[in-house]
Amino acid sequence: LDRIAEVDGEVNAFLHVNTEEALAVAAEVDALRAGGLAGELHALAGVPIAIKDLIVTIGQPTTAGSKMLEGWMSPYDATVISRIREARMPMLGKTNLDEFAMGSSTEHSAYGPTRNPWDLDRIPGGSGGGSAAAVAAYEAPLALGTDTGGSIRQPAAVTGSVGVKPTYGGVSRYGAIAMASSLDQIGPVSRTVLDSALLHEVIGGHDPADSTSLTDPLGALAEAARSADVAGLRIGVVRELQGEGYDAGVQQRFDESLQLLRGAGAEIVEVSCPNFRYALGAYYLIMPSEASSNLAKFDGVRYGLRVLPEDGPMTIERVMGATRAAGFGDEVKRRIILGTYALSAGYYDAYYGSAQKVRTLVQRDFEAAFAQADVLVSPTAPTTAFRLGEKLDDPLAMYLNDVATIPANLAGVPGISVPGGLADGLPVGIQFLAPAREDVRLYRAGAALE
Ligand code: GLN
Repeated sequence: LDRIAEVDGEVNAFLHVNTEEALAVAAEVDALRAGGLAGELHALAGVPIAIKDLIVTIGQPTTAGSKMLEGWMSPYDATVISRIREARMPMLGKTNLDEFAMGSSTEHSAYGPTRNPWDLDRIPGGSGGGSAAAVAAYEAPLALGTDTGGSIRQPAAVTGSVGVKPTYGGVSRYGAIAMASSLDQIGPVSRTVLDSALLHEVIGGHDPADSTSLTDPLGALAEAARSADVAGLRIGVVRELQGEGYDAGVQQRFDESLQLLRGAGAEIVEVSCPNFRYALGAYYLIMPSEASSNLAKFDGVRYGLRVLPEDGPMTIERVMGATRAAGFGDEVKRRIILGTYALSAGYYDAYYGSAQKVRTLVQRDFEAAFAQADVLVSPTAPTTAFRLGEKLDDPLAMYLNDVATIPANLAGVPGISVPGGLADGLPVGIQFLAPAREDVRLYRAGAALE
């Protein structure tokens, strides 16, 4: 909390600091320890955590980075929050994000951008820039993010942190404000691979409140992170996720990482996923389509903001129009319009239908690649952290930063980003991808690079 007070004026990672409750939980843990009950405490009891402000919490506001939800308090906890409470982890507060998690730089937050602690003139990635910056600035040892198209992994990469997108269904989405329900996944952000594994074990596992939640056990994630054993592991370099469009410095650190993995006994093979080149295009149709449906509930009646038209008739449509005009930012409006268009009669087959076919092709590419390799590897993002404002007026350039992270969401497979050294003084992330339900492999491979 002292560290937050010291640096967050500059970093702006937090939208809300949960001082009283965090101290109360910490005191409770101390009391249990003093009472000789340390053995009954979870391994992470007393370890503070920051929560992306897309995840609903009792007792703290949830804004989703939007004016639409300013001052709104959730009447219930997300499942991951209940599990954090059970483990007695003090929640430090809620972290900044691109509005409704739409963005790659946290500049689309209605509450001002978060800055990258490595260079305050640069972006911390997005949409979960607040969680990653909080970890990188030593304001929190752990954080939660959500990853629909890279929003955990890309911010982790550009802030020198570890970030994990679990297998789709491996962590409950109950209480994560939905962006694109078939792609969304909550996951950990941390400084080490083991820390992420420990947190993943707290938040993961079956939840009847999420209809897509898997019933499989999670696997021994922390044990895998501790072993860091890649001897004999076949690691597939995805030909299409490197080279053109990737910074030379990023490519260099990536090549060195392959050397390190080879040195640790891994077998490096090359795999090809030819349909990955269409993944970004498919994502930017499927994601806005689902978002346009999910965001329909922000109607000026049920949640948060209500703006009344200045004059004329006071109809529901006009209240909704005035509320949405004032409550949503440009990027959210852009995506609602894109999604509504892609789903509309006459365009459905051409856009949404085609995108779903591409999604299947991406899944098949993964299946073929995983027949040749146990895990896949690539740079997490094509560039290091760019400057604030650099891509703000060019949505396409911003979208391109997600080129390496999006295929995993389309296929539901898990991914991790681990620090891979610096290029021109800025962190580079290395991404591992594993088959669905094989999150253990991510932790083994990721830990081998630390
Ligand atoms: N940059 C991606 C987007 O803007 C990431 C979204 C996410 O993972 N929440 O859609």
